[in-house]
Amino acid sequence: MAYDQNNIFARILRGEIPCKKVFENEHALAFHDINPQAPLHILVIPKGAYVSMDDFSEKASAAEIVGFVRAVGDVARDQGVAETGYRILANHGHDGHQEVPHFHVHIFGKKRLGAMLPKD
Ligand code: AMP
Repeated sequence: MAYDQNNIFARILRGEIPCKKVFENEHALAFHDINPQAPLHILVIPKGAYVSMDDFSEKASAAEIVGFVRAVGDVARDQGVAETGYRILANHGHDGHQEVPHFHVHIFGKKRLGAMLPKD
């Protein structure tokens, strides 16, 4: 799947639409999810143009991967959930119910999150 330069997170990275930023490093940006599913719900995105975990894991440089993974850990510590616990989640593609085609990791916390997946 080709990267869509006009997806909502690309527009946030270009500063065309605002976000509630909580963290930034050379390779990643983190901001509050607009529709939070937990008391803490933050998205961490790479600054590079990657559609998904599949794309990022295959094509990102080692520096980008390190910068991104460090950002996820730094955000969780900054937000005070490293001690209490948190969940990270990355949806990929149709079966993963990915809505925004720019790779992102969700960080959820500040409540007991329950079972890993809903029963259906
Ligand atoms: P996913 O289903 O993993 O692609 O999740 C996309 C997430 O992006 C959802 O949790 C949305 O609430 C969130 N989202 C969509 N637009 C924005 C925005 N402008 N700012 C912050 N979060 C957003």
